[in-house]
Amino acid sequence: MTKDVSLVLAACLQELHLPAVKKQYEAVARQASAETWSYPDYLRELVEGECQQRRQHRIERLLRESKLPLAKSWSTLDLKRLPPKVVQQLRALVSGDFVDRHENVLAFGPPGSGKTHALAAVAQELVRAGRRVLFTTCSLLVQDLLAAKRDLTLKVLLKRLARWEVLVLDDLGYVQQSREEMEVLFTLLAERYERGSVLVTSNLPFSKWEQVFKDPMTAAAVIDRLVHHSVIMELNVSSYRAEAAKRSRSSAGPAPQPTGE
Ligand code: ADP
Ligand code: MG
Repeated sequence: MTKDVSLVLAACLQELHLPAVKKQYEAVARQASAETWSYPDYLRELVEGECQQRRQHRIERLLRESKLPLAKSWSTLDLKRLPPKVVQQLRALVSGDFVDRHENVLAFGPPGSGKTHALAAVAQELVRAGRRVLFTTCSLLVQDLLAAKRDLTLKVLLKRLARWEVLVLDDLGYVQQSREEMEVLFTLLAERYERGSVLVTSNLPFSKWEQVFKDPMTAAAVIDRLVHHSVIMELNVSSYRAEAAKRSRSSAGPAPQPTGE
């Protein structure tokens, strides 16, 4: 290839934002002539490489933006510790169909039972399938909503949050929240109702939500909106953390039999 051709190509590929083609075209051209590929085959190889790189960069960006705890992944989730019903539910969720149906997921269970890990793992798989997900703790989000309300930018924030197909709210009701805090949370959930999926983890069963939402009417309204189209998951297993600590303490002696398996 003459120097002129490669200079023109490099400039054009740069202008067209085709970095993978720019990087690969000479090496692929050598392979193509060695193996006598057709012109379309050569082009396909280059264009496919570009598409693949773009998809990969998009997923990397979505993973960063999701703020998901990436170590809590599907591959590190021990399904044997979870009730068979939950495993079945999680497997179905990973397909992502519930996101298209704007359904919610509510994971209940005692601290350490794996609620956050299970939902973060599902959410990470959804991102890897190209979906836009945001993970946040319920209390952080409520603080953001309250600040926005004070600054009269609540509408803007709600609009920005609506861009996420999936919102993971970790630890709903973990701390006692004030009436004002609960009101903004209610506004958010009402806004997303039947428009986007919300994944919630909570240590508290529905019956205790009244305490969190201060007044029974708000609690009932929130439950109503969350539950209407939802998958409810009960992780009634013992604490993974407590078991891990027990195992390491007694590592000198015989290993304790894990419960629930
Ligand atoms: P919860 O949100 O229910 O309080 P977490 O999901 O934070 O519990 O789990 C507590 C710890 O135990 C985390 O480090 C998590 O990775 C781990 N863990 C819990 N369940 C599992 C599981 N089934 N497989 C692998 N790790 C688990
Ligand atoms: Mg948790």
